[in-house]
Amino acid sequence: QKEYYLNEQIKAINKEMGHEDDPGADAAEFEKRLEEKHMSDECREKTSREIKKLRQIPPSSAEYTVVRNYVEWILDLPWDVYKESELDITQAETILNEDHYGLDKPKERILEYLAVQTLVERIKGPILCLVGPPGVGKTSLAKSIARAMGREFIRLSLGGVRDEAEIRGHRRTYVGALPGKIIQSLKRVKCNNPVFCLDEVDKMSTDFRGDPSAALLEVLDPEQNYAYSDHYLDMDYDLSKIFFITTANALHTIPLPLQDRMEIIRIPGYLETEKMQIGRRFLLPKNISLHGLKETNLSVSDNAMLEIIRRYTREAGVRNLERELASVCRKVARKLVEGKDLDKSFAITVQSLPSYLGIPKHRHGEMEAMPRVGVCTGLAYTEMGGEILMVEAAIMPGSGKVEITGKLGDVMQESAKAALSYLRSRSALYGLRHDFHKEIDIHIHVPEGATPKDGPSAGITLATTIISALLNIPVRNDLAMTGEITLRGRVLPIGGLREKLLAAHRGLLRTVIIPAENEKDLKEVPETILKDMEILTVETMDEVLSKALVCADPEKVFCRMDVNDVPLADTLLKEEFRVERRH
Ligand code: ADP
Repeated sequence: QKEYYLNEQIKAINKEMGHEDDPGADAAEFEKRLEEKHMSDECREKTSREIKKLRQIPPSSAEYTVVRNYVEWILDLPWDVYKESELDITQAETILNEDHYGLDKPKERILEYLAVQTLVERIKGPILCLVGPPGVGKTSLAKSIARAMGREFIRLSLGGVRDEAEIRGHRRTYVGALPGKIIQSLKRVKCNNPVFCLDEVDKMSTDFRGDPSAALLEVLDPEQNYAYSDHYLDMDYDLSKIFFITTANALHTIPLPLQDRMEIIRIPGYLETEKMQIGRRFLLPKNISLHGLKETNLSVSDNAMLEIIRRYTREAGVRNLERELASVCRKVARKLVEGKDLDKSFAITVQSLPSYLGIPKHRHGEMEAMPRVGVCTGLAYTEMGGEILMVEAAIMPGSGKVEITGKLGDVMQESAKAALSYLRSRSALYGLRHDFHKEIDIHIHVPEGATPKDGPSAGITLATTIISALLNIPVRNDLAMTGEITLRGRVLPIGGLREKLLAAHRGLLRTVIIPAENEKDLKEVPETILKDMEILTVETMDEVLSKALVCADPEKVFCRMDVNDVPLADTLLKEEFRVERRH
C-alpha cells in the first residue's frame, strides 16, 4: 500500500511539473514511426518487441531510458534512404577538374565507376585508398568526388583511434553505450549511400581494448559489409552502397588484410611546374576571396610564385604553399585597411617578397658546392614524401671504435655496420691493411640529427661515404644515390623510387644511382623529370664506387672482383693505410 501511495505521489508531481505522464505515449509514437520505415522483417520484429517492452517498464526506471534510446537510434537511421542523383559523366568530370589540378589517376578511376553505375543498377561500392604525403589533396579530393557524384560527404578521422568500440559501438549493457562512429555518421547524413572518407587509416593503433582495424575489415569488405553488425544495434545493417575512400600517408603501417580490401592509388607529390599551376589557378584565387580581397588588389608574379615554392616551402604537397599565400593575403589586407583605400593594388615580386614573408626559409638546391671527401648524398622516402639525406663520415686515429649518430633507427644502424664489414672484407682490394680499422675510429653522422631516420635504402650511401673518407677520395657532389647493400656488395632494390627522384630533382641533383632491379619502376616517374636527369643503374657496390667517386680511373680501382689481383692506383690512397705489396 505504501508503494502504491508513493507511485501516486510521483505521478502527481510529474503532472504538476508538466512532464509526460502517459507511459504509452512514447511507444505509440515509435510504433507509428516504425510503420513508416522500410527495413528488413527481422529488424522490424526486433524493434517492435523492444517497443512492446517499453510499455511494460515504468518510465521512471533506468531501463526505460536505455530501451527508449535504443529504439530511437533504430528509428533515426536511414535504413532504406538513398540520395538519388542525376549522373552526368561530363559534368562530373568538369566538377573534378574545377576543384583539383592534375591527379589524373584517381579522377579517371572515379569516372569509370560512375560510368559503370549508369549501366548497372547495383554495383558494389569500391574502396579506394589514396596514399601520399600530407597536403597533396587526398581529403579535398574525396570531398570533391562527393560533389561530383551528387552525394553526401562524411569524413571520419581514424588517427589515434585505438578502441574497437569507437568503430563498432558498445554493447547495450554498458551505461551510456552508443553505436560506433560509422552508424553515428549515417544517422547524421540521413542517407545510406554517402561518400565516406576514412582519413588516416595508417594512424590507427591497437591496444588491449581490441583492434580497430579488425572492425574496419568488416566495414570495408564488400563480401561482408551488406550485413554489418554494430555492437549496439545488434542487427545487420547494409553498408554496401557507401562509397568508401580511405587516405593514408604510408602503406606499411596499414595491416595487410586491410590493404587487401582496398584499391590503392598513389599520389606521389607535385612537381614544381604543377605546384605553380595549383598556386596560380587554385590556391591564390581561393585565398584572395577567403581574405575578403578582390582580384585586383593583389598580383603575384610568376617569379615570385616560384620563389615561394622554392625558398619558402620544402614539401611534397602544397599545404605550406597555401599557408604562405594566405600570409601574403593577410598582410595585403592589413595594408589595405590601414591605408583606407580599398581599391589599391599590390604587386608581389621577388624583390618585395621578403617584406611580406620574411627572409627565405630554405636554400634552393641542396648540393654541396664541390666534391668533398666523406660526404655523400642519399635519398630517403618518408611519410612526407622523398627527402635528401646527407651522410658524413670522419676518420681519426683511435682504437677501432665505430660511432653512428644522427638518430638512426635499428635498420639504418645495421646497414651502416653491414657497409663497414663489407669494406673490411675487401680491404686488400682498396689497398688498405687488413687490420686498418684497429688504428682508427670511424664516426658516421647523418645531419638533421633531431629527425629520426630509418630504412635499409641508405646502405650504399653509407658505404660510399666511409670508403671516400678512408681512401681520401671525394664523392661527386651533383650525384645522389639510393640502394640497399648486402654483405657481398650486391645492391638490392628499394621502395619509393618515384618520390626519391622527385626529391633529387627538387634539390637540383641531376644524376642518381639506383639499383638495377628498380629500373622497372622508372615508368611511374613523370617524363618531364626523367628528361632532366641522368639515371645510372647498378648491381654491385663496385659499380657505385666507380660512378660516384672522383678519381682518375675509377673503373680500374674499383671494378675488380678478384681480391688477389690488386694493381692499385696507389697515388689515390691515404699514405698511412697503404699496403706494402710484395710480388
Ligand atoms: P591531404 O589530405 O592530402 O593531407 P588536403 O586534402 O587537406 O591534403 O589538401 C590540402 C590543400 O591543398 C587543400 O586546400 C587543397 O585544396 C589543396 N590542394 C591539394 N592538391 C591540389 C590540387 N591538385 N589542386 C588544387 N588544390 C589542391
